[in-house]
Amino acid sequence: MEEKRTKTPLKSFSCNDSCIKITNNMWEQTFDALPDFVTIIDQDHRITNMNKTFADRLNGNPEDFIGKTCYSLVHSSSEPPDFCPHCMLLKDLKKHTKKFFIEGLNGYFSVTVSPIFNDKKLEGAMHIVHNITEVKKLEKSNNRLVTIVESSNNTIIGKDLDGTITDWNNGAEKMYGYAPEEIIGRSISLLVPSHIKDDIDWIMTKIKNGESITNYETLRKTKDKKLIDVSLSISPIKDSDGTIIGASTIASDITERIRTEKLRKELLENEKNLTKKLQATNEELKSRQAELFNVNRDLLENKNKFFNAFHKNPAAMILTDENDKLVDFNESYAKLTGYSKDELLHRNFRELNLIKPIENRNYTRDIEISDQNYEAEYTIRTKSGKTRIIITRSESIELEDKIHKISFIYDITKRKMVEKAVEKSKTQFQVLMNNLKSGVALIDETGKFTLVNPAFMKMFGLDENMDILNVNSQKWDSWKVYGENHQLLQVDDHPVRRATLTGKPVENLLVSVLNPGSNEFIWMLISAEPVLNTNGTISYVICTYNDFTKRKAAEDHKEILLKKEQDLTEKLQQSNQELMDIQYKLTNTIKRLEISNSELQQFAYVASHDLKEPLRMVTSFLQLLKQRYKYQLDTDANEFIDFAVDGAKRMHNLIEDLLSYSRIMTQGKEFTCVNMEEVVEHVLINLKVFLDENSAVFTHDLLPTINADKSQMIQLVQNLIENSIKYRDKTPPHIHISAEDNDDEWIFSVKDNGIGINPKHTKQIFMIFKRLHTNQEYDGTGIGLAIIKRIVDRHYGRVWVESELGKGSTFFFTISKNEKISFKLNC
Ligand code: ADP
Repeated sequence: MEEKRTKTPLKSFSCNDSCIKITNNMWEQTFDALPDFVTIIDQDHRITNMNKTFADRLNGNPEDFIGKTCYSLVHSSSEPPDFCPHCMLLKDLKKHTKKFFIEGLNGYFSVTVSPIFNDKKLEGAMHIVHNITEVKKLEKSNNRLVTIVESSNNTIIGKDLDGTITDWNNGAEKMYGYAPEEIIGRSISLLVPSHIKDDIDWIMTKIKNGESITNYETLRKTKDKKLIDVSLSISPIKDSDGTIIGASTIASDITERIRTEKLRKELLENEKNLTKKLQATNEELKSRQAELFNVNRDLLENKNKFFNAFHKNPAAMILTDENDKLVDFNESYAKLTGYSKDELLHRNFRELNLIKPIENRNYTRDIEISDQNYEAEYTIRTKSGKTRIIITRSESIELEDKIHKISFIYDITKRKMVEKAVEKSKTQFQVLMNNLKSGVALIDETGKFTLVNPAFMKMFGLDENMDILNVNSQKWDSWKVYGENHQLLQVDDHPVRRATLTGKPVENLLVSVLNPGSNEFIWMLISAEPVLNTNGTISYVICTYNDFTKRKAAEDHKEILLKKEQDLTEKLQQSNQELMDIQYKLTNTIKRLEISNSELQQFAYVASHDLKEPLRMVTSFLQLLKQRYKYQLDTDANEFIDFAVDGAKRMHNLIEDLLSYSRIMTQGKEFTCVNMEEVVEHVLINLKVFLDENSAVFTHDLLPTINADKSQMIQLVQNLIENSIKYRDKTPPHIHISAEDNDDEWIFSVKDNGIGINPKHTKQIFMIFKRLHTNQEYDGTGIGLAIIKRIVDRHYGRVWVESELGKGSTFFFTISKNEKISFKLNC
């Protein structure tokens, strides 16, 4: 077969024959195996070579077509067609590619013709015919699709998996307002309102999972920031391998639809409402119809009733026409006036002169209720000549097309009498209220003051001219009310308020209220008595207020005094108790002192008494010793004995004085009436020698009779006179005794002209054993004045001395005039 073919040999490379043979074989096999149609054509368009693929397509063998012209074979024409690339090649010897539809091959082909030169001389051309029918078809369909998509009024958008917009058609531009060049390459989020940004993630997640979304209704944002309702259908875009590379969105603007739906809903709602209203109106109409029916029926009935209502009415009624003629009157009127119809009907009612206006009232001043109706009070004269007070109420009515007047006449004679009585008691009440010292207020059930008397106004410092409303403007909580314990009361605990709230009376409650007028607290005794209606509710509350301020102050003062008294009593009791304690202690001390005193006295007495005996022995034996051995002893011994005798004497005197001292209290005599003149005489007798020896002069005033122990008085006066003589100076002693009446006591004085006493010693000389001199100067024991003090003490008196050195001394002593003595003597 190969033999038959005329083939163009390959000449371009050197090779031996076998090599050429192999190479040719390879070339031919390759040539035949090529999928494209390949043929070699000479300058006359004749086929010199053709591959098997081409021949198969032409339903023959390659050699069947060799020598034939290509245009006759594939174009079925006698000449090459205009678009023949081979013609072009023949002209410019260059390679050309042309795409065209080949009738004979029934398809689109890309024909590439390449020149084949032999020694730069064109020998022919290689034609490679590549079938592009399918490509063309795809192109066509693609173009169609693109045109459809581009020109579609539906919004079609393509985006990749990142949400970047890749495709944007006309519809999208119309809907969103962006031109493709403005939006392609930007994120789809540009179209999503910020509040639903999550939308994109949700959509992209679904798309990445290969899911489609259909008719998803949501909101999107246009270029001019307008929100539109859209319905989205989103599907994944896959590449040839089926990998998802993006998503396509078909969107439609449903704003209008949503608006329409809303409108439709509203219309439906309106329709429903209208239907309901219509139904209601229908119902109402029905019930009105029923009412009208009833009214009509009632009217009919009323017409019948009117007759009865007029004639049988308990109120007197008359019917007059427009000329005031009496057309009719009922039985009650006949009964009231005593007239029959024959006497009054068809006569002018005014001319009958049955009624007269009360006092100065006349027809024109009647109370007009409306243009046609009026009410007025009259007196009416009955047939029997009595006068009754009536009130008429007239109304105009139309009867048989004429204006009539129907008048109701009420007999108010009794009511008037009651009113008068009420008026009188009102006046009395007013007088009472005005003159009451207590504040009185009436409070209604809501707690408002409806009436207050002047005392009330005065009490609270309110203006006399102030009306009750002004009082009422004081709200409950603005009244500061305090209880007796000074605690602020809660509003509901105010006595009056409490009575108003509970309906229970409050009696004589003591409170203090801040006087709104003076801003001072006033104590009030408040009582509130609720007056109840028949149904048990409060009608009003009667309140009485009594100013308790002064009484409270007096009570408080009394309380303070009582408290003080109580305190004083307590203190007194306390000090009494203390005094009693002291007294008790004192009594004990006195007792103890008395005991110790008596023991001491006992001791002093016993000691002095018992000392006397051995002392007498000592003295006697000393004297005996001196008498017997006077001449045997030397002068010194005799002198010593004299000293001893002298000492014993002094001791004897001391003991004697001590004994007298101790005897004053224990062996004192009962008090008697003692004439002090006698006492002095007695003393002068006792001291006669001593006085004479000293040439003493003694004088005295008139001396009283006193209540005393006579012996002790003698001892007292004698001691004083003795001292006056003993403590004399060179001049003869002059002693004077006098007495002075000092109310409840006698003051005695014993004055001398002796050596006197330094005033600083005047107190101590009354103490026992206190002496101002030695025995060498003045003999003595220092007990004399102590005895005097003790005697004066026993007579409830005092003793003292007034003196100066060298100027004499005056001793004073007092004797009480019985008051302090247990029993009184009339001396
Ligand atoms: P006595 O005379 O034994 O010393 P008295 O008690 O009588 O003791 O007197 C006490 C003292 O008072 C005396 O020592 C004397 O100094 C003084 N005295 C008493 N009476 C007088 C007087 N009339 N004039 C001056 N001195 C007196």
